Amino acid sequence: MKKDKTTGEENRILEKTLSSLEARRQAPGYVVILLLLLYFIASLTVSTAASSHTDFVLGDIRIPLYTFAGIFSALSNLCIIFLVIFCGKAGFIASLIVMTIQIPMIMVGVFVKGNYTSLPGIFIDILTIFAVIVIFYNKKKLEKYQLRLHEQATTDTLTGLPNGFAGTELLNELVRHNKPFAAVSIDINDFKSINDTMGFNMGNKVLVALAERFKDIADRGLSGTLDFISRINGDEFSLIIRDYNSDQEIEKTIRKYEAAITEKITIEGYDFFVNASIGYAIFPYDAADRDSLISGSVAAMREIKRISGSNRILRFSSELKAADHLSIDNKVREALENDTIFFCLQPQFDMSHHLRGFEALARLRDRDGNVISPVEFIPAAERLGVIDSLDLAVYKKSAAFLGDLVRKTGTKAVLSVNASVKHLMKSNFIDEIRELLENSGLPADQLEIEITESLLIESAEKASRILRELKEMGIRIAIDDFGTGYSSLSYLNTFPSDTLKIDKSFIDKMNSGVSSQRYVEAIISLAHVMEFEVIAEGVETDDQLETLRRIHCDKIQGFLWGRPLPQEEAERLVMNQ
Ligand code: C2E
Ligand code: CA
Ligand code: CA
Repeated sequence: MKKDKTTGEENRILEKTLSSLEARRQAPGYVVILLLLLYFIASLTVSTAASSHTDFVLGDIRIPLYTFAGIFSALSNLCIIFLVIFCGKAGFIASLIVMTIQIPMIMVGVFVKGNYTSLPGIFIDILTIFAVIVIFYNKKKLEKYQLRLHEQATTDTLTGLPNGFAGTELLNELVRHNKPFAAVSIDINDFKSINDTMGFNMGNKVLVALAERFKDIADRGLSGTLDFISRINGDEFSLIIRDYNSDQEIEKTIRKYEAAITEKITIEGYDFFVNASIGYAIFPYDAADRDSLISGSVAAMREIKRISGSNRILRFSSELKAADHLSIDNKVREALENDTIFFCLQPQFDMSHHLRGFEALARLRDRDGNVISPVEFIPAAERLGVIDSLDLAVYKKSAAFLGDLVRKTGTKAVLSVNASVKHLMKSNFIDEIRELLENSGLPADQLEIEITESLLIESAEKASRILRELKEMGIRIAIDDFGTGYSSLSYLNTFPSDTLKIDKSFIDKMNSGVSSQRYVEAIISLAHVMEFEVIAEGVETDDQLETLRRIHCDKIQGFLWGRPLPQEEAERLVMNQ
């Protein structure tokens, strides 16, 4: 009983989602009959009109009736085309039969009755049959394609569960109809370690096994409530619970799913024991709109994950709302866990506007799709001790991108990546970089590592040893943000570096007075003496560019010639060079 209700309603909602994605409408059966009728009337009228000797009288005008034959003939053909387009297989078969029967009938007219004027009709008939077949098969192909599109849009390919989109559609629907329900966020704990130790494939199999169990509970109505489970992404699932009598019943249902998660999973002889953090919020009591409901259940899930006691289920509360648990720390952790850190590429040019390379700049997007600035999340990543993972994610993705472009185009563009000193000082930094070059195929002399001047000086000795090793590998070193720290060029000379990046604050001030300009000029000439290549950062105006040209700056990076770009645009820039 429950089962039918569940699948019935789910299907209805999914169906609705699907049909809103695509307008695949087939005409009802009576349209076939109507069109056929119209076709026969039109065809009969053609022959009647063609053999008629009477005129059509309109006031003073007399039009011979036979001149209308063409119009009716076109109308009959139109009926046939409509049949194929709007009436599916039945329309297709009906139109084929009608057209095929017509050929011998015309032949009898021509060869038996000697009515030679109908002869061209045979050719028109054959052409129409041909057109009908072409239209039908093209339509079939399109429909198949659309069906696949449907499935892709609402189904998670790995597990076969509905995906996040389908889940959101259902939420919208329920909120619109103001029906009470519970939104539950399920996040498998420490799933990354399964992927890390057993490989991605095994991780996927565990997810599929979990999905099977979830499906079983939801489809067979084992929980006693009406449930809809979908996979959001990675190891995150969302559950929507309806048709319950009390809050206790909601909790009972959630426990049922939790039990399905913690029960031993055996795959290829390996036993897995997983558990999950589960948060939920009830509409409309805990939150009255879709977005706050979702962020409420996610906040509760995060909170219970953070406490990580024996109870792993938590309902969203107003106290939770007050505490900012969707804080930047969580966003960084989440992005690392889900591998959603990405990067932009800001181009660097020489003074004649030729591309020198790109600086990879880390980006992070929160759940609402807003891009968070690295100025916000890099300090958080350093504080949390995850800056190395974050840096490495950017290195890997950006090096893979440029490595590919090098293979495709032979470009000599340099990739500059930022290294936090904490990361640089880690014992395996050199190994990480070696592996990075190997995996990406990026030539060593096309990788540049940027390190902030002030931070370098704080740990000078160890830093210069690591930098020397990197240099020996052929990698370029850039001193970043020059001018914000000690600004001591002679001191910097002790570091084996190639490039000096003058901080934006200098470039900003440069044209405000003669002394500021002289200062930048002095930095550049001294840097040249020490054989540094100089890049001016944050160049925004033509005036700044002109000054920098005059005082022999080598390269510029700034909004004037290029903002941080998404990959595709960066690729286009390389192609155009
Ligand atoms: P940065 O290394 O000095 O990078 C340059 C920053 O200046 C970028 O900001 C860039 O968008 C901005 N910028 C460039 N040209 C202009 C301009 O003409 N006008 C203005 N107003 N701004 C300009 P973004 O991307 O916000 O990066 C901020 C900082 O975050 C970076 O400063 C860097 O220190 C750090 N960062 C970025 N990605 C990473 C990373 O992957 N790892 C580490 N450790 N730090 C990173
Ligand atoms: Ca930088
Ligand atoms: Ca900089």
